[in-house]
Amino acid sequence: MLTRIRGSRLIDPSRSVAGIKSDAANGDVENYDGMDRGDLWFEEGMIIAAPTDGRAADREIDAGGCITMAGGIDLHTHIGGGKVTLARMLLRDQMPPWREAGGGDFRSPGECDFLPSSKLTASRYLDMGYTTCLEPAVMPCNARSAHAEMADVNGVDCGGYCLLGNDDVLLQLIAENSPQEIINAYVAWMVTATRCIAVKVVNPGGISAFKYNVRSFDVDTPHPENGVTPGRIIRTLCRAVYEIGLAHPLHVHCSNLGVPGNIASTIATIEAADGFPIHITHAQFHCYGTEGPYQFSSAASQLVEAMQKHPNVTIDVGQIQFGQTVTISADSMHQYENSGHAKPRKSVLVDVECEAGCGVVPFRYRRREFVHSLQWAIGLELFLMIDDPSRVFLTTDHPNGGPFTAYPHLLGLLSNRSLRETALAEIHADAAASSSLAGIAREYSLDEIATMTRSAPAKILGLADRGSLAAGCVADVVVYEQQNSAEKMFAVPKLVFKSGQLIRRDGEVIANGETPDAASVPKQDRTLAAAIPNFDDLVSQERIADFRSRYGRVGTFAMDRLWISRDEMEDVLGNRLQGTGIRDCETPAKTEVAS
Ligand SMILES: [Zn+2]
Repeated sequence: MLTRIRGSRLIDPSRSVAGIKSDAANGDVENYDGMDRGDLWFEEGMIIAAPTDGRAADREIDAGGCITMAGGIDLHTHIGGGKVTLARMLLRDQMPPWREAGGGDFRSPGECDFLPSSKLTASRYLDMGYTTCLEPAVMPCNARSAHAEMADVNGVDCGGYCLLGNDDVLLQLIAENSPQEIINAYVAWMVTATRCIAVKVVNPGGISAFKYNVRSFDVDTPHPENGVTPGRIIRTLCRAVYEIGLAHPLHVHCSNLGVPGNIASTIATIEAADGFPIHITHAQFHCYGTEGPYQFSSAASQLVEAMQKHPNVTIDVGQIQFGQTVTISADSMHQYENSGHAKPRKSVLVDVECEAGCGVVPFRYRRREFVHSLQWAIGLELFLMIDDPSRVFLTTDHPNGGPFTAYPHLLGLLSNRSLRETALAEIHADAAASSSLAGIAREYSLDEIATMTRSAPAKILGLADRGSLAAGCVADVVVYEQQNSAEKMFAVPKLVFKSGQLIRRDGEVIANGETPDAASVPKQDRTLAAAIPNFDDLVSQERIADFRSRYGRVGTFAMDRLWISRDEMEDVLGNRLQGTGIRDCETPAKTEVAS
C-alpha cells in the first residue's frame, strides 16, 4: 500500500546539516531545514522518495497542523531477562488487583505501572510512538530467556547488550595480560553467541569481587583474586568494542552506584576509557558529591565539564520519578547495600554462575526525602546542562528510576521552564535550594527532542535504517498533533505506524492494522543483533577451543551451550534476526582527548 502523509512538519535532525537538506531522497521537500512542511511517502514498510511516475497514493492522510517524526528509540530499558522475572515474582503483592482490593476496580497483575507484562510494555511504548527498545543487561547464560521475553514485547523491535566484565573467563584473560586480539575474539564470540548488539559492563569487576566478600570497590581497586582493576576492565573492553567494529560504545554502569561522592569514580571511569568511545548509563545515579549539610550534593556540573573535555563520552540520564517502583540491577554489591532501604521491606540477591549477579530491591521515591528530591533535580540538570542533545539520552532506566511511561511528562518539563519551576516548588525545599535547576532557562526544541529520542540513539547504536524519515528507512512513523503542551502531544500521538502499518489512531489500538489476514500470520518482530565483520577471521577455531576449556573450568556447563543459532532465534524463540549495529566507517571513533 502506497501511503502519503501530506503537509505535516517533518522533524528529522539526522537529515539537516546547517539548515540545508543533506540528501535529495524525498524530492518534494526542498530547502529542508529539519522543520519544513512536506510530504512523507512509504510503501511495503519502508519510507520511499516521492514517486516520480505520477502514481497516486492508496492512502492519503492530510496531516496539516501536525508534526511527523520517526519512531522513538529507547536505548536503555529493562524489558527482559531473569531480573525482570524475579521482580515480578517478588512483588506479586504490590500488583493489581491487590492494591485495589475491595475497590471493585480489579485489574490484572500485568497492568502494574512500574512492572507491566511484556505485552503491555510493548503496547505502552507503541502508545507513545516508541518502536525500538534495547534491553541493556543480557547475561550470556540467560540470553535465551531474555530473547524469549523480548519476543513477547509484540510489535516493538528489540535488541540486547551482552553483559561482560565480571565473567571469570574475561577477568582471567585480562589478568594474564592476554593480547588484545584474544580479548577481541572472546568479546566478538560472546556478542554473536548471545545475539546481542552491544556490550555492557556493570560495576566492572565489582560483582565478581562481591563474591569474595568485598563490599566497596573503586576504579583503581585490585580484584582480591586476580588483581584486575575496574579501570583496566574498562580500557580493555572499550578497545575491544571499538576494534571489533560495534557502533555502540561500551555501555558502562560505573563503580559506586548511588554512593555519595561517586562523581570521582565516574570521572575516573571516563579517563580509563583512554579516548575510546564510552557510554555512561543512568548517569544521574553516578553524579553525586558530598557537599552541604546532608553530605549529598549534585555533581552535574562536574560531569558536564568532564564531557566537554572528553568528546568520546555520551550518557543517558536514568531520571527518577516520584512514587513506587522496583530497582533491578546486576550490581549485586550495591543492591545488597540498598536492600536496607527496600519498600516494601524485601529483596532478592543472587550470584549468577561465573558471569554476574542480580539484585531486586523495591523502592519508593518520595518528595519529602532530601536525597530523592535532589536525585530528581540532578537528572534534569544533566538534561539541561549538556548542550548537545546527541550526547544525552532520555531514560528513566525503567523501572529503576521509574516507568518509561514518564517520558511525555519529562519532555514537558524539559521543554517548558515554568512547568519545571512549578515542579521544583513541590520537592524538598533544601534540595530545591541546593540545585541549580531554578537558574536554568533552557527549553528543549522539537528538533532537540527528535535528536535525543530518535536520530542520536539510532546513530549511536549503528541503526542506519531508523531514527530518521529518509528514504530507505523502516516506516516507523509518528504523527503528532501540534499542541502547546509537549506532555499531551507526546503522550497520545495522532497516528503511529510500525513498519508502515497503522497501529494507533488518537490513542486507540488499530487491531491488525489494515491487513485483514495479519492475525493468521505469526508475527515476528526484529531482533537487532550485531553483524560483526570478518567474524570467522577474528574468532578462529583455535581461540574458541581455548575459551571453551577456560569456561569449562569455571562454569557448570559447556560454553557452546551459550550459542543461540539463527534457527533457534527464529523458530523457537520467535524473533526475526536483523544484522546491524556496525560502526559507520566515516564516524570518527577514537577521539583525541582535549587537554
Ligand atoms: Zn539499567
